[in-house]
Amino acid sequence: MANFSPSFLDEVLTRTDIIEIITRHVELKKSGSNMMGLCPFHHEKSPSFSVSADKQLYYCFGCGKGGGAFQFLMEHDGYAFPEAVEYLAEKAGMEIPRDSERDPSEEARHKRAYDLLTRASDAMNRALHSPAGRKASDYLNRRGLPAAIIRDYGLGYTPAGYGFMHKIFGNESRINAALESVGLLFKGDHGYGDRFRDRLMFTIRDRRGRTVGFGGRVLDDGQPKYLNSAETDYFHKSDLLYGFSEHRDHIRKNKQLVVVEGYMDVLALAAHDLKIGLAPLGTAIGERQMREIFRLCDSPVFCFDGDRAGKQAAWRALERMMPLLKPELRPRFLYLPDGEDPDSILKTEGAEAFQKRLDNDSKQVLETWLMGLKLLAGLGADGRARMAKKADGMLETMTDHYLRQAWRQEIEQATGIELKHAKRQSFVKAEDQSNHQVAAALPELNQRQERFMAGLMQKPERFKSLSTVASQFFIDNNLLNSIYSRAFSIQTDAEDNNTDIARQLAQEFPDCQTLISRWVNQATVLQVEFESLSLDMESNDIRRRLKNGLDLSGTVQAKTRLNAIQNLQRTLSEPLTSEQSDNTGA
Ligand SMILES: [Zn+2]
Repeated sequence: MANFSPSFLDEVLTRTDIIEIITRHVELKKSGSNMMGLCPFHHEKSPSFSVSADKQLYYCFGCGKGGGAFQFLMEHDGYAFPEAVEYLAEKAGMEIPRDSERDPSEEARHKRAYDLLTRASDAMNRALHSPAGRKASDYLNRRGLPAAIIRDYGLGYTPAGYGFMHKIFGNESRINAALESVGLLFKGDHGYGDRFRDRLMFTIRDRRGRTVGFGGRVLDDGQPKYLNSAETDYFHKSDLLYGFSEHRDHIRKNKQLVVVEGYMDVLALAAHDLKIGLAPLGTAIGERQMREIFRLCDSPVFCFDGDRAGKQAAWRALERMMPLLKPELRPRFLYLPDGEDPDSILKTEGAEAFQKRLDNDSKQVLETWLMGLKLLAGLGADGRARMAKKADGMLETMTDHYLRQAWRQEIEQATGIELKHAKRQSFVKAEDQSNHQVAAALPELNQRQERFMAGLMQKPERFKSLSTVASQFFIDNNLLNSIYSRAFSIQTDAEDNNTDIARQLAQEFPDCQTLISRWVNQATVLQVEFESLSLDMESNDIRRRLKNGLDLSGTVQAKTRLNAIQNLQRTLSEPLTSEQSDNTGA
C-alpha cells in the first residue's frame, strides 16, 4: 500500500460502494443488517457470502475469503493493488496522485498498448463491414452469426497484403515499435509487416475485458488455419480462455459451463443464447485454465469431437484435471458424433437438442477415465496389466485422498490387479491447501471470542461500555491483542461514535482484513448477547489470572467479582449463559 497515501485510499473507499462492485457478479439479498449471496470464490448451493454495506467489507463463511473493495477486485477480477485503486479512483472521478516510486512512463506504455489493441480491434471490425471484408462477412453469415454477436465479441477482418496497420496508425518508428510489442506487426528484412493478413479476426480479451490479442482464421485453404497473437507482455495464451470475460457472470448464474475446442464453437453457442462456452486458445488446457474453469463451475462439461484427435484432447484434459479433482467437483465429458462440432450440431438440431446432449449424453469423469485406460491398454492379460500400471501412475497425481481411494478400488475391480503405489499415499499431501493459506496465519478464536469481536466491530461504541480490565482480554494472543488494543485506543480517542473502526483497522492491519471482514459480516450481535459475552470474557480473564497466582487480596477481590458475574449472567437470558463453563479463554 506504500504508493498511495492512507488519506487517498480512504477517500477512494469513501466514494466507492462495495455493493455495486460485488452485485455485478453476485446476486445479493438482504439478510439482517447484511447482504447475502452465493460465494463467487467457491461452489455452494446455499449462500454463505456476506457483504456489509455499512462497513464495506465482504466475508465468506464457507471458504474464508474476505476483505474490502480493493481486495475483491484483486481476488475476483485479477487486478493488481495499484490497478484496483486506480480503477476505483477513476470511477469516483478522482485525480490519481503521481509519486516517485511509480514509473509514469511504464504506466503510460501499458495504457498505450491496451489503447492500440482496442483501436486495432475496432478497425478490424470496420474492415469486416467494408467491401474488402466481404469474403469474411459472407463466411460469418453462412455460419449464422447475428450482427449483435459480431459486434459484442469484436469480430473483424484484416485485409490481404501488407500495410493495414500503417493505414490505421501511421508509419512512425515509435508507433511501429509499439505495434510490434503488442504483436500486431513483426519486423522483417524489409521493415515492419502485418502479422495478420487476409484473416477473419477474433478479439481476445483478458478476465477484465481488456483486449489483449487476436486469433486469426484463414478464409481459404491457407496455413496455418488459425494464427494467434504472439506471446507479449499482454497476451499469455496459456492463461486465457476465449469467452471468459463475456460469459463469466452468465456461467455463474446458470451454473453451466461448456468447454469447447474453438472460437467458432463459443460463438455458435452464444448465438443460440447459450453464453456458457469457453475455449482455450488453440492449445491444450493448462493447469491455470483448469483451475479457472472449476472456480466458475463445479460441473463443467468438456466437449470434444468424437474422432481420434478429439479423444486425445479429452485424455489430455483429463490428465490435467486429475490433481484438481475433489468429490465435490463433477466434470463431465461429451463426445460429439464423428465429423460434428458444436456449431454443426446446433445448426442441424438446435439449442434444445444440444442442451439435451449436455445433460444426457455426457459421461462422468471416472467413466471417461476407465474407458480411456481400456482403450490405451488394449486387450488380454497384458492389456489389464498395462491398464493397472498406467492407472497407478495417474492416481499418484491425485491430491484428494478419498477420491483417490475410491478410484483405486474401481480400477482394481476393473483389472483384477492390486495396485502398488496409490496405497502408500499419506494424508499430508492430500488436502487442497489453497483455501486454507490465509486462514492459517490468523489467530484462532473460540466461538464466544469471535462473537465478542463481532459485537465490537458492529457497534464500536460498545468499547466505551467495557470495564478497564477489558484491555487484558487478548494478551495471550499477540496479533489479536495488537488489533484489539489499537481498536481500543482509536475508539477511546474518538470524539464521536462515527469512526469507521473496521475500515481503519483493515487499513492498518492489511493482513488481517479477512479476519475483520469476518467479524463485521457475522449475524448481528444484540446488546443482551454482547453483555453476556463481555461478562464471559471477564470471567475468563479472572480465571486466567487466578491460575497464574495473584496475591491474597487480589484473589479475594477476583473471586468476589467472579461470583458477581455469575449472578449477572443468570439475570441475562438462559441459553446465552449455558456455554460459559466450557469457555476456556485465549
Ligand atoms: Zn466462499
